[in-house]
Amino acid sequence: MKIKAQYAMVLNLDKCIGCHTCSIPCKNVWTNRDGAEYMWFNNVECKPGIGYPQKWENQDIHKGGWQLKRGRLQLKAGGRLHKGINIFHNPDLPTIDDYYEPWDYDYARLIDSPKRRHQPSVRPRSRLTGEPINLKWGPNWEDDLAGLAETGAGDTNFKNLEIETYLQFRNVFMFWLPRLCEHCLNPACVASCPSGALYKREEDGIVLVDQERCRGWRYCVSGCPYKKVYFNWKTGRAEKCVFCYPRIEAGLTTLCAHSCVGRIRYVGVLLYDADRISPAVKAPSDQAVYPAHLDILLDPNDPEIERAATAQGIASNVLAAAKRSPTYALIKEWRLALPLHPEFRTLPMVWYVPPLSPVSSQVAPVQESETIDRLRIPMAYLANLLTAGDEVPVRTALKRLSAVRQYMRTQRVEKRSDKSLLDSVGLDED
Ligand code: SF4
Ligand code: SF4
Repeated sequence: MKIKAQYAMVLNLDKCIGCHTCSIPCKNVWTNRDGAEYMWFNNVECKPGIGYPQKWENQDIHKGGWQLKRGRLQLKAGGRLHKGINIFHNPDLPTIDDYYEPWDYDYARLIDSPKRRHQPSVRPRSRLTGEPINLKWGPNWEDDLAGLAETGAGDTNFKNLEIETYLQFRNVFMFWLPRLCEHCLNPACVASCPSGALYKREEDGIVLVDQERCRGWRYCVSGCPYKKVYFNWKTGRAEKCVFCYPRIEAGLTTLCAHSCVGRIRYVGVLLYDADRISPAVKAPSDQAVYPAHLDILLDPNDPEIERAATAQGIASNVLAAAKRSPTYALIKEWRLALPLHPEFRTLPMVWYVPPLSPVSSQVAPVQESETIDRLRIPMAYLANLLTAGDEVPVRTALKRLSAVRQYMRTQRVEKRSDKSLLDSVGLDED
């Protein structure tokens, strides 16, 4: 057993209010520079939506991550360079239109405008060329338009929609998905870099780009299935989320977690067995990756693991952080947090508690398996997002969430403790 430590994050999607506050300090600190205008190391997507960059989840368009072929693992895109391959040809890159052309406004027009009958207005202009642009797309554009896009009506004035289209909105569901680099255990970005510029830190698993070594090949951009590496057009080098490592080293949390209004983010340290990575990434089916992924994680409160970790040189402060971190319990003990698209086989380290969606008076019956399918967000959709289509782990997580919610409600409102609610889903009061 080879024990290593890894920074990880768990996000409770039930609590995300889509305010984007998390993205703003990240933008101000890390990508508020020339060449980085279009980059959002942290973005918040409206689901089901097209995403940022557009359709990043569709691996037929944006190839990335790993595929298992005849028992062997291969990069889908951005493979290492070999003699005979045209090194300038990287066909799987997203274009600027897949992200968006960044814009701002000429605010001086508002201030300098001579007195007129009508209020002055400003037109958007490209931050790249300075020319006026017609806005076509931006990160989270579909926050407002997803319903219309789904109906295909394309009528942004809502004037010509048929009554049937209005009625479809009764069934509309949505939730927010905050996204950042997954700091994967088996990062496709690192494997696809021909310059060896991307690396995973030995001590805490944070994935970084060595700016001195980067040669701008952009194979990491196409290789990352989550599309969380970006190309800085000014410096000609790749950039990505650094998990706020200078703050982490100073004992602080990441900016996105620090600023999160909904308090949805739990940052912690996980211990894992590096010897079990290979069997997990080579799991025989996409649905088998998630359980194998869990097998890698080690209980930091197990005295034997603690002894072995110390003997293998895991620093005492890292071990202490792993012991007090809620991430292991949320992910493995309680099975509440699930990985995003485990079928990409990069073993992501950002985990999501699935949203219960509006439950209102349905809280209690939701624990029963026949009624859990009545939740507004379709089970199949969540399973495709989080467990490669396997609905069982999503059901378990949702039932447990619902039971805990009901338990807390009876405690606080009815002033009684109904332990049977927790027993029914295999949880105890601790
Ligand atoms: Fe690399 Fe992050 Fe993409 Fe994983 S999510 S492949 S660590 S850039
Ligand atoms: Fe969601 Fe928190 Fe970001 Fe607001 S700050 S969008 S609640 S993750």
